Amino acid sequence: MVKTPIYLDYQATTPMDERVLDAMMPYLTSKFGNPHSSTHRFGWEAEAALDVAREQVADVIGSETGEIYFTSGATEANNLALKGIMDVWGKKKPHLVTVVTEHKCVLEAAKSVEKAGCRVTYLPVKPNGLIDLDQLAEAVTTETALVSVMAVNNEIGVIQPMAEIGAICREKGALFHTDAAQAFGKIQLDVDAMNIDLMSISGHKIYGPKGVGALYKRNGRQTTLTPQMSGGGQEGGIRSGTQAPALVAGLGAAAALCKAEMAQEKDRLAKILDRLKSKLFKALPNLLINGDEEARWVGNLNVSFPGLDGDLLLANIRSLAVSSGAACASAVSGPSYVLQAIGRTDAQAKSALRIGVGRFTTDDEIDFAADTLVGAVNAMGGLKP
Ligand SMILES: *Cc1c(COP(=O)(O)O)cnc(C)c1O
Repeated sequence: MVKTPIYLDYQATTPMDERVLDAMMPYLTSKFGNPHSSTHRFGWEAEAALDVAREQVADVIGSETGEIYFTSGATEANNLALKGIMDVWGKKKPHLVTVVTEHKCVLEAAKSVEKAGCRVTYLPVKPNGLIDLDQLAEAVTTETALVSVMAVNNEIGVIQPMAEIGAICREKGALFHTDAAQAFGKIQLDVDAMNIDLMSISGHKIYGPKGVGALYKRNGRQTTLTPQMSGGGQEGGIRSGTQAPALVAGLGAAAALCKAEMAQEKDRLAKILDRLKSKLFKALPNLLINGDEEARWVGNLNVSFPGLDGDLLLANIRSLAVSSGAACASAVSGPSYVLQAIGRTDAQAKSALRIGVGRFTTDDEIDFAADTLVGAVNAMGGLKP
């Protein structure tokens, strides 16, 4: 027997790993010091926690420890990268390139950059959700200060070609930022091999706590950016405000676990998702997969149920915690802009479900989910081709 509702929304957030909580506890209790207090042991032990976590995060992406800056999450890191870089470099190079399927926080930060007087190119994606590299190479000019392309898409799971994008940016002299909230700790990322200059990371997508993240920023004058917060100059002056040692220790521990278990976790999730996919497609051959079938994170399945309404389907599968292809951004209803960008009709987009599996998903849960979904679809009259 499985316990319902079954959590299948790992792209929205992940449950915290107990080992992460263990790493956090001391900093929520006895080790309560302010890492900025340099005159006593309470401060030192809190600062030591930040040092350890910085090393653990850096270790996942092959960066220097001093290139990691803690933030409140990936939203803040994305804002810092886009607004901060364009504020400094936009005078000389007033052009930013990003992609239509980025997370809302990148798109909104890009809009803000536009308001500040810069030009923004929003690259389209191909029907498989990936950008066209020739189109990127054409868009990036000597006027382009920054290119921002996410590593793994949060809705359809597709993995953009990081190394190829990095090579184009380097050749054209543009900085390369990636929103890696869904990729960090899950797929291999190497900031040097991929020419990544800035990267955004989130704690709660990797079995760590909510409210913490990091910006990787390559050392050097060319990545100078304007801080978005005035204050005491913490995090090298990039992000003022007292750091949260417990949250940061959790981020670090979560990163270390991801690195240690990356290969086996990927294999296990691939098997689990294959099991779900084959059960679903056997019963419902008219399902439509959204996003490239190869270049995708193995823990994500986004499928349209032709002829059905996703919200109605959701209402009939209350034992499964999944998300629909509509209203992904909270109160905003209507079809997902990501599914529209890959060419889905409004009806197809609204019939989509995003199913995300992760560290704590079991085979039994997958079997239950498949049976529940197939049962609900059949009860609703089946799929229309
Ligand atoms: C979750 C997510 C974010 C936002 O991260 P927070 O840490 O919640 O601010 C940004 N981008 C992507 C791709 C995400 O999945």
